[in-house]
Amino acid sequence: SVSVTIESIEKRFDAFAALRGVSLDIQPAELVALLGPSGSGKTTLLRLIAGLEQADQGRVLFGETDMRDLSLRDRRIGFVFQHYALFRTMTVGENVAFGLKSRPRGQRPDDAEIRKRVGDLLELVQLPGLDKRYPSQLSGGQRQRVALARALAIEPRVLLLDEPFGALDARVRKDLRAWLRDLHRRTGHTTVFVTHDQEEALELADRVAILNDGRIEQVGSADDVYDHPATPFVCEFLGEVNKLPVKVVGSQAFFGDRPVLGGLSQNQGGQAALYVRPQHLRIVDDLPLALPGVVEHLRRNGPLRRAEVAVQGLAKRLDVDLASQVAPAIGEHIRLRITHGSLFAAA
Ligand code: ADP
Ligand code: MG
Repeated sequence: SVSVTIESIEKRFDAFAALRGVSLDIQPAELVALLGPSGSGKTTLLRLIAGLEQADQGRVLFGETDMRDLSLRDRRIGFVFQHYALFRTMTVGENVAFGLKSRPRGQRPDDAEIRKRVGDLLELVQLPGLDKRYPSQLSGGQRQRVALARALAIEPRVLLLDEPFGALDARVRKDLRAWLRDLHRRTGHTTVFVTHDQEEALELADRVAILNDGRIEQVGSADDVYDHPATPFVCEFLGEVNKLPVKVVGSQAFFGDRPVLGGLSQNQGGQAALYVRPQHLRIVDDLPLALPGVVEHLRRNGPLRRAEVAVQGLAKRLDVDLASQVAPAIGEHIRLRITHGSLFAAA
């Protein structure tokens, strides 16, 4: 595997700027997720890395080499798409063998070798013995695993996956996520995984790059981007969040007259927006830095119970994850402490 360096890429479609100054360093054997809403430029960036699209400015390096200086064959890119990933008229075995068979003479393994490689790859993607089947005889999840086997057959230097599990149902997608994570650990290909699903990106990737409107807003580990979002967009895109208008004085944030968060290092001063995730609000007894409110609603949110708490001076109720906390009663007056928050310039 090889490093991939994306340098100051600009890409327009006529007047429309699809990518605006995108730079990203991907380490050898790293799995990076490109995460962003539909239309943010994820596929365009992936196609640029693959050389299927030309940048107006900037360049992509494989190791030290500008990929435009490499022949298609020398780029050795494995690509898996969301849809139509397999040749329907070929068996599974023929699909996986495709890249090997289309090599120039001399580099093309003989038939026995190809058969062995196909067998090994189907074993690797946990579909042993299915080589005689046709894609129509497989489930969606099996098909995408075959597509991955086909991409891996050429021993790619870089593996590019464009929403490979996007068309599958939630359960299968979750299973394949864990499966791909393990496969990547064993095979160690430099991998770029495109998705609009934040859970998928956070669970799967060594690092996540969040794309918005043709720009990368932040790159970091799942914990970095989730707990320390660089922008309001990143914070909101990665999960639910409560927003409070605050005033920063010294190292403290005040909601009205009430200090609600201390120990702020960035001494910005003035009006700001404090973003707080539901799991970062804790019900406390009488303590400083607590926000009084009234429980107005209780509900489930997946595995967690969730309280909606009205706070005087806030139009929107605060969402509070209860986790293992004792559930309050509806109508109960409680105090909330903010255990973690992100401060942004006031909108
Ligand atoms: P994503 O994969 O994040 O959904 P894309 O990279 O497919 O986003 O597209 C980014 C933007 O560029 C979209 O607004 C899309 O309409 C536009 N776009 C992509 N490809 C083309 C093209 N070949 N011609 C014109 N516009 C395009
Ligand atoms: Mg796309």
